[in-house]
Amino acid sequence: MVEARAHEAPNPWHALPIAAIPTALATGREGLTTSESQRRLERQGPNALPRAQPPSGWAILRRQFRSPLIAILAVAAVVSLAIGDLKDGLFIAAVLLINGVVGGLQEWQAERQSQALQQLLRMRATVIRGGVALDIDAEELVPGDLVSLESGQRVPADLRLIGSSQLELDESLLTGESLTVLKSADWSGAADTPLAERLNMLFAGSTVVRGRGQGFAVATGPRTEVGRLALAVLGAAGGRPPLLRRMERFSRVIAIAVLVAASGIGLLGALHHGYGPMEMFLFAVALAVSAIPEGLPVALTVALAVATRRMARRQVIVRQLPAVEGLGSCTLIACDKTGTLTCNELTVRRIVLPDGESFEVSGEGFHPAGQVLREGRSFSGEHPPLARLARTAALCNEADLRRAEEDRWIWRGDPTDIALLALAHKLGWSREHGLERHPQLHRIPFEPERQYAASFHPIEGEDHVLVKGAPERVLAMCKPVPGRPSPHALARQMAERGYRVLALAEGPAPLAPPAEGPHPAGFEPTWLNLLGFVGMIDPLRPGVRQAIATCHRAGITVWMVTGDHPVTALAIARDLGLAPAGPGAVVTGRQLDAASPETLRGMIRGSCVYARMAPEQKLRLVNAARAAGHCVAVTGDGVNDAPALRAANIGVAMGRGGTDVAREAAELVIADDNFATIVAGVEEGRIAYANVRKVIYLLVSTGAAEIVLITLAVALRLPLPLLPVQLLWLNLVTNGIQDLALAFEPGEGDALSQRPRPPSEPVFNGLMIQRTLLAAAVMGGVGFATYDTLLRSGAPLAEARNALLLLMVLFENVHLGNCRSETRSVLQLSPLRSPVLLAGTVTAFLLHVLMMHIPFGQLMLDTEPVAPALWLRLVGLSLTVLLVIEADKGVRRLAAAWRRRRQRVPEAG
Ligand code: ADP
Ligand code: MG
Repeated sequence: MVEARAHEAPNPWHALPIAAIPTALATGREGLTTSESQRRLERQGPNALPRAQPPSGWAILRRQFRSPLIAILAVAAVVSLAIGDLKDGLFIAAVLLINGVVGGLQEWQAERQSQALQQLLRMRATVIRGGVALDIDAEELVPGDLVSLESGQRVPADLRLIGSSQLELDESLLTGESLTVLKSADWSGAADTPLAERLNMLFAGSTVVRGRGQGFAVATGPRTEVGRLALAVLGAAGGRPPLLRRMERFSRVIAIAVLVAASGIGLLGALHHGYGPMEMFLFAVALAVSAIPEGLPVALTVALAVATRRMARRQVIVRQLPAVEGLGSCTLIACDKTGTLTCNELTVRRIVLPDGESFEVSGEGFHPAGQVLREGRSFSGEHPPLARLARTAALCNEADLRRAEEDRWIWRGDPTDIALLALAHKLGWSREHGLERHPQLHRIPFEPERQYAASFHPIEGEDHVLVKGAPERVLAMCKPVPGRPSPHALARQMAERGYRVLALAEGPAPLAPPAEGPHPAGFEPTWLNLLGFVGMIDPLRPGVRQAIATCHRAGITVWMVTGDHPVTALAIARDLGLAPAGPGAVVTGRQLDAASPETLRGMIRGSCVYARMAPEQKLRLVNAARAAGHCVAVTGDGVNDAPALRAANIGVAMGRGGTDVAREAAELVIADDNFATIVAGVEEGRIAYANVRKVIYLLVSTGAAEIVLITLAVALRLPLPLLPVQLLWLNLVTNGIQDLALAFEPGEGDALSQRPRPPSEPVFNGLMIQRTLLAAAVMGGVGFATYDTLLRSGAPLAEARNALLLLMVLFENVHLGNCRSETRSVLQLSPLRSPVLLAGTVTAFLLHVLMMHIPFGQLMLDTEPVAPALWLRLVGLSLTVLLVIEADKGVRRLAAAWRRRRQRVPEAG
């Protein structure tokens, strides 16, 4: 019947009175039962929009053949076949196919991994089922479910509101309207009201900017308004990583250079040497194919994909590929305190009443077993001021804490609120019983920019308001009481001991309920009675202190940015080794607002602790850090953190504590909310960047070596040193898998003991250029000299080419050892550390030896077996490239050590 109605009159829900909604949806105020929701899920299907299809294997394979170079090669193959050169034609075709398949397989794997990761980013929804609030996967939502929403959440289905407080929605994805819309359960309007004006309806795909709401799901999945528009708004947008774009440009430049060189060599050879133009054309193409690093973009994609997978294993979920590179070059991490540096398992440890009387609270975590004690005496339930405090803690609260079994408790909600519920329990108060006696009339939910929450209840026949929040905010609402200790001083004393301090107050409610809106203007009482302060502890996350030390070693600055009190923040920062002992510099949100851009620059240089920061101030801080040249990673969880997350180089959202909005604005999601995990991500990012450099170095330096060899031969008017097919083969057995294998290299273990690279430094930097030239000169030069010597000693041309081909294969495989580290000796890196590279290289090499010995290989490649003495000589010669680069590394290592010593000496003296 429900479905039938929905079909006849598609949108009647907003016009129905609230009382009629549950009946129309065959549900109730307690929500659906679990079995009924299961039945509906089977009938209605999951609450999800159709997703974009991943590219098919075939499409990925086709993509591999789209480069112009491949086209030239294909033309070359066809031409060879046409002129009857069956051997070359078939060989080129085979090379083409193998290249395409290898590249395609890699890309297909990367694609599959990114699909698997999307699963980790599923949306969740809070529903009431059988009278109990549950967090479920948003895809399991069905019509009739009663859904609760709070700021920062994405609306999971179309909902008809039945309750709301100061609920503001961002519907820009649906309407394009960027102003937020105030929604209210109490609104009523005609059935033909346009969609955008139905203020008692929430539509899937919009987000809650402020406030709280509760409503029944009336349509899910494709039957929602967005579903009808077939808008896939829930997917994450991905861009091409800047590194990848830069590399594509780089390979294009190299490709042009190689093409010019190859054509030059081709022309020179054809005109001066009397080689046939066809033969020279094939040769030039083969040279271009070998020397152009066409595998580069694929290898890069793979390096980033490998990093993405390694990060996922360490709980870092990459939403956008550029973040891998960004994280590797990050120089500053601005981190939230609560939940990221600390466990977010708040426990009230101390209570201070306005007269200065103080109590200790026993018990662990959120579990409500424990007592309120003073000098060993328990005060649970027999102390009126404590009872009033407990009442406010229980009623001005949005969390849930209930007994599941005998001694097992379950909870959900804001940790600050759960801690207060646990405290209330210890004093004999539960929220359910409190609400029976004093039903809630109205509330002002907590929002970070407001720093307090208020709740309105009838108490002894009169409307009361109960308030809890940051001491400064709450004290401003209280009437001063002469002759008592200064409440500000009491709060400060607690903060100095590292407690997160909340003040609680109550008093008669203002006559009219406060106006709806972002900053309830009507609510500015000054007559409340202070009930006291509670001090909560929040244990530091294990491993965070070491992670901060690691950051400092790695040249990364760490900032704590918190909404908490400066004194509390500083105490915790000291504990973490973030701020030095002694008078530390804390910048508060207010100081930040008052600072001119110049003062701000000085401020951020001198301080690592930022307290009482509102979200807009966090944004200003991020912009200032970027202006100072930092590459900034910022964590955020709230809805208002989204601008700061977007402004940062790398936005990092929390997987558990974070809101949907923050997650969607971020490039990375930290699954376990732990700061140490970000540092692990930085390490993987740096390793990925180093691997990218290794791949580039290998491809460019071997290509350059081939050009040097052939240019020398052509310039000195020797016969062409290699046949076109030999060049192609050389490329295949030395670069075909090795470049990809380098992308898999594990870290060298020192990624976090170096300073971050300057954000503006190009990948192909000075060191890389010098090394490339050096390696190319050695391999090309020694190769040429060997070839020349062989010819002079009277060896037949085919034999000289055969020996040279073997030498080049040896050279390029030995050179892999050079590529594995920019600083370390090859002797320090066990080949077993990267089995893929070892296996790939050995297989490729054995394949070449095989081709020298079997008739098929001899026919295709013009190869022949080599005498043992020559073998030895060639192996010896191939080691020259290793020796030269090792010497270069050694000299640079010495120079670096010398520089470090010189820097240290004046400090010591
Ligand atoms: P952070 O998460 O950085 O510690 P928040 O922005 O969450 O800071 O909170 C800022 C301040 O608001 C806290 O120091 C506290 O005084 C107050 N506060 C936090 N949570 C609540 C809450 N649920 N109800 C009332 N006040 C709160
Ligand atoms: Mg918080």
